[in-house]
Amino acid sequence: EKQKRLVVVSNRLPIVVGQQEEAWEIAPGSGGLVTALAPILKSRNGLWIGWPGCGEEAPLDELFARFSQEHNYRLHPVPLTETEVEKYYLGFSNETLWPLFHDLLGHCHFSQENWLAYDEVNRRFAEGILQVATEDDLIWVQDYQLALVGAHLRQMGVRQSLAYFLHIPFPSPDLLRRLPWKIELLRALLEYDLIGFQTLRDRRNFTNGVLAFLPGAEVLSRQRHYTLIKWKNRVIKTGHFPISIDFDQFDADARSTEVADAAWYLHEKFQDHQLILGIDRLDYTKGIPERFLAFERALQKYPALHKNLSLLQVVVPSRTLVPEYQTLKEELDGLAGRINGHFAEPGWTPIHYQFRSLDRVQLLAYYRTSEMALITPLRDGMNLVAKEYCACSVDHDGVLILSEFAGAADQLGKEALLVNPYDIEETADAIYRAFTMEPEERRRRMHRLRAQIRRNDVHRWARSFLAENKIQRAPPL
Ligand code: UDP
Repeated sequence: EKQKRLVVVSNRLPIVVGQQEEAWEIAPGSGGLVTALAPILKSRNGLWIGWPGCGEEAPLDELFARFSQEHNYRLHPVPLTETEVEKYYLGFSNETLWPLFHDLLGHCHFSQENWLAYDEVNRRFAEGILQVATEDDLIWVQDYQLALVGAHLRQMGVRQSLAYFLHIPFPSPDLLRRLPWKIELLRALLEYDLIGFQTLRDRRNFTNGVLAFLPGAEVLSRQRHYTLIKWKNRVIKTGHFPISIDFDQFDADARSTEVADAAWYLHEKFQDHQLILGIDRLDYTKGIPERFLAFERALQKYPALHKNLSLLQVVVPSRTLVPEYQTLKEELDGLAGRINGHFAEPGWTPIHYQFRSLDRVQLLAYYRTSEMALITPLRDGMNLVAKEYCACSVDHDGVLILSEFAGAADQLGKEALLVNPYDIEETADAIYRAFTMEPEERRRRMHRLRAQIRRNDVHRWARSFLAENKIQRAPPL
């Protein structure tokens, strides 16, 4: 059988379009999804559909032609107006679904107007797909911004198999109950044939939500790797597929001379003390204030840490147009100032706090040099930073402290030091435990972490998801 062409659909295209002096430029975007999907799209002559993230004035035809020549897959834009971005993306996606799905109900706004805009933009994405996709393509929709695209495609008469992957957690029925549009959302999701989640917990939450809120839905079969749900004469398959990183690429790059030099330079700067690293997008799901408090508590409890350990916290600016994110930024500035003001001594700053993005060499140098990583999200779909830190710990001496509420804890929980990020005392103790861990134990743990991530890399993630889809194509009952 001929392999189908793969059509990936996501909110943003994997590109950055910008203007250098007068000339327009197009560069590949960064982030996990691009690394995961680009090689597969290349090998399958694929197509990526999404919002280009720029205004109408950019000469997209010309830029996309240049891009497809260099990267061996094609792009197709779904343009959005400023109002659409505000209501569908900043509004419903990021002020409703994002906090609700991360169990942070207090951050949720519910607005009928935003829901309608979300539905409308999802319909526009379906239209965009129909402009370029054919019956023979495998259509794979990504993430929470586009949950309704499958349902709109069905309304437009599309009958072929449709796949969907949710990159963020899926909430329990108790939380989902609060969403005024939960029935519409669940019904729409069941128009896909294959639905992928990050963890078993997310998969179970979805099944339980379907059973709780859609009378008539039935579970046909629960297996280790998948669940079959019957709904309206169709069978829908769900599974969990933990996303990952290109381990070999990170490992190789972390060993490069450039990174080794940058790492050496960093260590020179922080000569007499160890570093504990945090890297996150600015987001209230990441537990950064709680982390600062835990670090402060560790300094109160364990004087041995004074002048011997610094927290290096990088916060990458993100969604700064959402007011909640501005408030968080101010809170972090305040906390870092207070803690440093209290504990700093000549030659030692407890918290080095940077609000900016890093280039790849810097990022890998930070990963490679830091003796410990402190990754404490309140809830996270997966958390790739945790996996990248291990892949770059090429001397096998890093210690990973990880929140039990990150999806990554399912795979890394045995060898990382797991903490409940709401438990400041426990996290403070874990910091001290990591600081005092014997080299032999560090090596043993890191060795196993690396083996785990190497085996379950991002290529395996994509392969296993697409393999399920092939045997799927549920026949109508
Ligand atoms: N990252 C980045 N720029 C930076 C620092 C990190 O693009 O300055 C990347 C990092 O390498 C990782 C991603 O951002 O691949 C963060 O992914 P994660 O799953 O940890 O969290 P998310 O931001 O998706 O919630």
